[in-house]
Amino acid sequence: MGLNCALDGPSGAGKSTIAKTVARRLGYVYVDTGAMYRAIGLYVTRAGADTKEKEAVVPLLKDISVELEYSDGEQRVLLNGEDVSGEIRTPEISMAASNVSAIPEVRQFLLELQRSIAKKNNIIMDGRDIGTVILPNADVKVFLTASAEERARRRCDELKAKGRDVSFEKILADINQRDYNDTHRETAPLKKAEGAVEIDSTNMSIEEVADRIEELIDEAIHRDFKVIPAWRRATYSILRFIVSIPFFLIFRIKYENTENMPKCGSVIIAGNHQTWFDPILIAIKVRYISSYMAKAELFNHPILGLAIRMVHGFPTRRSSNDVSSLSRAEAFIRKGYNLTIFPEGTRSKDGKIGKAKSGVALIASRCGVPVYPVGISFKRPLRFRSTITLKFGKPLDPEELKITSMSKSDLREAGERIMSKIAELVDQ
Ligand code: C5P
Repeated sequence: MGLNCALDGPSGAGKSTIAKTVARRLGYVYVDTGAMYRAIGLYVTRAGADTKEKEAVVPLLKDISVELEYSDGEQRVLLNGEDVSGEIRTPEISMAASNVSAIPEVRQFLLELQRSIAKKNNIIMDGRDIGTVILPNADVKVFLTASAEERARRRCDELKAKGRDVSFEKILADINQRDYNDTHRETAPLKKAEGAVEIDSTNMSIEEVADRIEELIDEAIHRDFKVIPAWRRATYSILRFIVSIPFFLIFRIKYENTENMPKCGSVIIAGNHQTWFDPILIAIKVRYISSYMAKAELFNHPILGLAIRMVHGFPTRRSSNDVSSLSRAEAFIRKGYNLTIFPEGTRSKDGKIGKAKSGVALIASRCGVPVYPVGISFKRPLRFRSTITLKFGKPLDPEELKITSMSKSDLREAGERIMSKIAELVDQ
């Protein structure tokens, strides 16, 4: 389950613009529930039925399928497979949506769809009843308002920019009418949810509101960081001690700049990768419990798979962009575990430092946690009593990674920044 942010408020408060901005910045999925009501409004209008008449609308529902599709970060609304993203944005369909949304059967029809999207993704969902009905347990709830005049002015500007001829008075009247409909209907009327933070955007810019919501999401993520139970920490210490014995007997292991090592949980430790026991070399020294990504094939072996899981390893698929393993990593960090990760994704055969994959930067910035670089060096070939040196570097804060947009190029650059810090710690 991902992080859920519910964004409710009256028509024209700027919910969709804000939600899109926040979703783009954080790499979340934006779910525009208004678009779903609009699609139903459009279908009913096309069918020539009265959008206010429950008896006329309900029988049509069985013929309707609404889907949201995402391509290049844009949301497309599909009504029975047809892309209606543009057509649903007229004032006529706005009113039709408002009318059909007062019908309980229509709301029930969309409820499951909205919940199932929220279950699978980190989302920001906007609407009227998200915090009250659809996602009452959302991690973050926001109630976004603005004065009716300000909202009418914004809608006017928006429509004029699209070349439509509109009157301010008509738009204001429409907004007042829709506010009335939304707050006075019997099923799921528009109201501030319990625990929601109210933001009045009348005198705020889009960026300011988005910053505030991002702050709330950040707080929610940190609020969720937990402390690992004592028995688990004790077991981990004993295990570390036992496992360290053969390694200290076989190799000379030197740890340098240990003052830079993590002094708490919920951080990322990132190193260069050459041997299967790199994670063990780090775990022997860093006493805070870490989780690890391990290649999925290792989990095919029942005993090995079990052993890796016992030390909080979880599978990742190298070939694809493995979203579930990224979510797992985030979940571990929120529970108070560190994450030890090798950003190159695969072992270096010749000791040279490779390129970083984007995962490490993505997790660091989503969780807002620092990355502790560590360089592992030894002379090849590795023999009995060879010296292995692990050098710890100063942590990189999420701000230093300069990830602003979560775009592929931003993440890749941040990954490279981490990798170059690691490279400085490796004796090449
Ligand atoms: O947000 P938007 O203006 O696109 O929504 C269109 C209409 O759908 C609103 O006027 C409102 O009546 C209805 N709606 C709703 N519940 C939601 C989202 C939209 O009732 N969650």
